[in-house]
Amino acid sequence: MNPHHSWLASANDHADFPLQNLPLGVFSPQGGRPRAGVAIGDSILDLEVLLATGLLQGEAATAALACEGGQLNGFFALGRQARVVLRERLTQLLAQGSDNVGVVRDCLHLASDCELHLPARVGDYTDFYVGIEHAKNVGKLFRPDNPLLPNYKYVPIGYHGRASTLRPSGTPVRRPKGQTMPAGHKEPNFGPCARLDFELELGIWIGPGNAMGEGIAIDRADEHVAGYCLLNDWSARDIQAWEYQPLGPFLSKSFITSLSPWVVTAEALEPFRCAQAPRPEGDPQPLPYLWDARDQKSGALDIELEVLLLTERMREQGLPAERIALSNTRSMYWTVAQLVTHHSVNGCQLQPGDLFGSGTLSGAQPGQHGSLLEITHGGKEALALASGESRRFLEDGDEVILRARCVAPGQVSIGFGECRGRIIAAA
Ligand code: MN
Repeated sequence: MNPHHSWLASANDHADFPLQNLPLGVFSPQGGRPRAGVAIGDSILDLEVLLATGLLQGEAATAALACEGGQLNGFFALGRQARVVLRERLTQLLAQGSDNVGVVRDCLHLASDCELHLPARVGDYTDFYVGIEHAKNVGKLFRPDNPLLPNYKYVPIGYHGRASTLRPSGTPVRRPKGQTMPAGHKEPNFGPCARLDFELELGIWIGPGNAMGEGIAIDRADEHVAGYCLLNDWSARDIQAWEYQPLGPFLSKSFITSLSPWVVTAEALEPFRCAQAPRPEGDPQPLPYLWDARDQKSGALDIELEVLLLTERMREQGLPAERIALSNTRSMYWTVAQLVTHHSVNGCQLQPGDLFGSGTLSGAQPGQHGSLLEITHGGKEALALASGESRRFLEDGDEVILRARCVAPGQVSIGFGECRGRIIAAA
């Protein structure tokens, strides 16, 4: 008997979903309606069926009941204590030596037989811009001498995104149409986007939230983060370049945003928290409302992020997807707590199931860039692929796959599952 291993063999050494992860999501088994579940190894534990067995009691039962109806909003609203109690009980039931193996085994579905949905109804989606290397790289394309605008190191920059077009991993990405202003033209064109891009981002699921008018103090901000996912903020660069001034991205971003379907809880990520990197010499200190000593000491995240590209030709030739970027959440200039506090400091209400995107997370080195805009320097230098192809921007048939993995000494490694999307031709 080993309490760190599961009796479910596929969970042990699983790249994403060992016993130590237990992410929540919403799925449909074959022919069934959407319901909440927990990823474990190659399977999904059906929380509704488990609840009906009577193996969840007290607060754990309350937590599972709040997941009913195929949306996790009610569960997110309960906050940390409910997540901790449910997690402890699920760990007991799934660990080697559990007394209830037979009953719990009957609550499992093979994940490959299930369809995954968005885990919650998203009221509002906000996309930030906290990847400072991305901000510098993109800024350099437009302002070589002055890549960062003066507000960047004081204000966690963000914009209000579109919740209606959030979709789970696997949803096809229809190439958008729109207005562009090609170089040298005097009038805009209308047609399919010619500079379609991805953005590698961390998604943040909001928990209880705040009443309108009452901000969330930085030392309480963690209580309002339910969990994390991967987010691909698909971007039409040609549409964006023409429309973005003066109010920021609009139709260049709102045609689809893809999410990995599993919510990796704040508790599962606890062992992979780290100190916020000290600000470079000469950078201003955050204003007092954004400063908390404990947050600086342990409020950053150490998550390896990866982007892979699978083209139509690779698929035809049986080639594997090619990794085109490797990055890490440590490149975030602001912590997640600082984002929560800043977002609510004016009295803006955050609600359970609201979603934040971190902004594109790029490292400083080549090979660490979380968008083609950066990899190809605005489309000027084509990316050469092992298949013999090259890319400046995405082509129809291209599939972008985001992955994330947490590794720390003495800890069982966990992953996020995939966030995939394949480009299909414009309508
Ligand atoms: Mn973005």
